[in-house]
Amino acid sequence: MKEVNLICTKCNKKFPIDKVHFRCDICNEPLELEEIKEGRIRKDNVFNQTIIERYADFFPFLDIDKDLSLGEGFTGLVESNKIAREIGIENLYFKNETQNPTWSFKDRGTIAGIQHAVKLGYKTIGTVSTGNMASSVAAYGAKANLKTYIFVYKDIADEKLNPIAIYNPRLIKVDGDYGKLYLESFKIGEENNIYFINSDVPFRIEGYKTIAFEICEQLDFDIPDYIVVPTSAGGDIRGIEKGFREFKNCGLIDKTPKIICAQASGCSPIYTAYKEKSDTVIKYENPSTIAHAIGNPTPPSGNQVLRMINWNRGTCVAVSDEEIIEAQGMLARTGIFGQPASAVPLAAVKKLREEDYIKKEERAVCIVTSTGLKYTAAFKKHNLRFEECNIKDLSKIVK
Ligand SMILES: [Zn+2]
Repeated sequence: MKEVNLICTKCNKKFPIDKVHFRCDICNEPLELEEIKEGRIRKDNVFNQTIIERYADFFPFLDIDKDLSLGEGFTGLVESNKIAREIGIENLYFKNETQNPTWSFKDRGTIAGIQHAVKLGYKTIGTVSTGNMASSVAAYGAKANLKTYIFVYKDIADEKLNPIAIYNPRLIKVDGDYGKLYLESFKIGEENNIYFINSDVPFRIEGYKTIAFEICEQLDFDIPDYIVVPTSAGGDIRGIEKGFREFKNCGLIDKTPKIICAQASGCSPIYTAYKEKSDTVIKYENPSTIAHAIGNPTPPSGNQVLRMINWNRGTCVAVSDEEIIEAQGMLARTGIFGQPASAVPLAAVKKLREEDYIKKEERAVCIVTSTGLKYTAAFKKHNLRFEECNIKDLSKIVK
């Protein structure tokens, strides 16, 4: 491993990376790897590279185990003139993370986490998740032939459970507070030598930087004004912001975009704290939203997201379930089918454009985090139609 440290996002205390440290032992805030100040992109053929190899200068690994990869990243950046026109903005892009191996952005964080786990000699990994991250860690654990523990909450629907179970991890439904389970898993990991690649652990954040790196390359280093990220635990948004910051440090881009933290109003602890000008996120009571994937009432990186939005000069926004479903439909009618949580950024852009926070001539990128096929119950919220006829009448009907 290269000579870099983990650093507390609040008090700056340093920790070595050759041991597992997830949170600061003084202030219990999340840790992150020290910022990269020098680096370049390895410009080889993307068909022969993994994301960790292409952006190797931005990771602490001296050698990269290619066998751990399932071909994550290098997802499309799709411009939609149709939606841009509808909501009155000149350029609107969608980073289509549904193209990842387990159909969500989580795979980028999992590959970075598992590289670290294997380097440290771990034979067992795990995670605490209700969906996307559970499938991702189970799949990468299967590929790496590591014993894999997945803790889910006890009321999880079969529709979500089976796509995790198919990878054959030790899948345990846990009866208890989901927020506490996050911290409990670290304790269990320490006692039993299990590397928990949870939502906002430092190496997961490192993996998410590659979303920013790819956007820079895809837009020819002409940086957009806004990046809009559906936010739950706070890992993805932190990683994306750090990616832009490091590319700027290295002179690859000359400015960083404003980062917008987009939440569902039915579970919006970070937005609520931001609006109240508080520096501490508190538990969101009685959460209820169709955007289940971002329904974490106790985001472990919530305070750090508030600090980051502050220095980045971005903002937080919350949108209703009605606005989310409307945005999911708009997105599908431009050819991209994201899950309700993944439609939150588009709903947020629409709202911020109506409020004239985002100007007509500005450019925004929405992160479409995962596929709509993971939550088919949302179909019934849409007015989906089809027609029927006998084959002999078909020609007449089409005319
Ligand atoms: Zn600290």
